Amino acid sequence: MQTHRVLTGVLAAATVIVLSACQADEPPNDVNGRFTQARSRTFRTFAEKSQQTWQGPYFFLQLADTQYGMFSGNKGFEQEAALSQQAVEHINRLRPRYVIVCGDLTHATPGHARYDAQVKQYKQDFSAIHDDIPLVCVCGNHDIGGRPTATSIASYTQNFGDDYFGFWVGGVCNIVLNSSVLKDPTGAPEVLDAQQNWLEQQLAAAQEARAKHIFVFQHHPLFLTEQDEPDQYFNIPLARRTPLLEELKQAGVRAVFAGHYHRNAYGRAGAMEMITTGPVGRPLGKDPSGFRIVTVHETKIQHQYYGMDDVPQTIDLTETTNVQ
Ligand SMILES: [Zn+2]
Repeated sequence: MQTHRVLTGVLAAATVIVLSACQADEPPNDVNGRFTQARSRTFRTFAEKSQQTWQGPYFFLQLADTQYGMFSGNKGFEQEAALSQQAVEHINRLRPRYVIVCGDLTHATPGHARYDAQVKQYKQDFSAIHDDIPLVCVCGNHDIGGRPTATSIASYTQNFGDDYFGFWVGGVCNIVLNSSVLKDPTGAPEVLDAQQNWLEQQLAAAQEARAKHIFVFQHHPLFLTEQDEPDQYFNIPLARRTPLLEELKQAGVRAVFAGHYHRNAYGRAGAMEMITTGPVGRPLGKDPSGFRIVTVHETKIQHQYYGMDDVPQTIDLTETTNVQ
């Protein structure tokens, strides 16, 4: 009896220690730690060195602009929740290597009265993804503001992890950028400088480690169709676009994936593809709500956007790898 009581006490104490260790590092509404993986400029799930080695073809899903609250002008988010839940059903059936959401997770920005409720619903819906499928979140202009500041970025970071970071998946180097500071750096020029220095190191390291591919993910497209197209709301200003494009091309970046446009767009800068993907949430053009499936082979990639009602049942990776 005495032993039992002591053991129970020890177990209770251990539980308290384990709980407090988890809680110290996790924001609210993140019961499985899914939203805290982007830390220290990397993504913990993929932190092992072995990820730098090619392990065979795989596919991932690129989503964008779930933007909870956009359909109703921040009054509710029922439509976005229904579409995201539909996306999660596809994700759990298809079982991709990972899922990446390229920004504007919510419509409200940090500090807005509806922000916390939208974040909570986003996390609730995306927590239904199977535990073994990592979810990578990217910040958009609605997530940190059109003119981000250290404060708005900190608010995002608390909920969703780092605003820029890199991770390897099976021999492929993936770089996630905070494109809102590229769009308008005036509220946080030091963040743009730090990101630029970090990016140069990442690109050098990727080349050094002989990445099979280098992918860049961000919210804003660098451009929609032409690399020298005039500045407008949906692209990055030429003043910062041109030197960045040069740097990415020099490093052999294979593709840049973005959202923000709420419809699909495509262009090339030399061999590098600029892939802009339509929204999970509210469309602003003919493309319906949906997401992109990207298959990654050792020497090539393939990608296709699917409306939510047209997503294939399964993805066959062997079809293209068996070609002689
Ligand atoms: Zn946006």
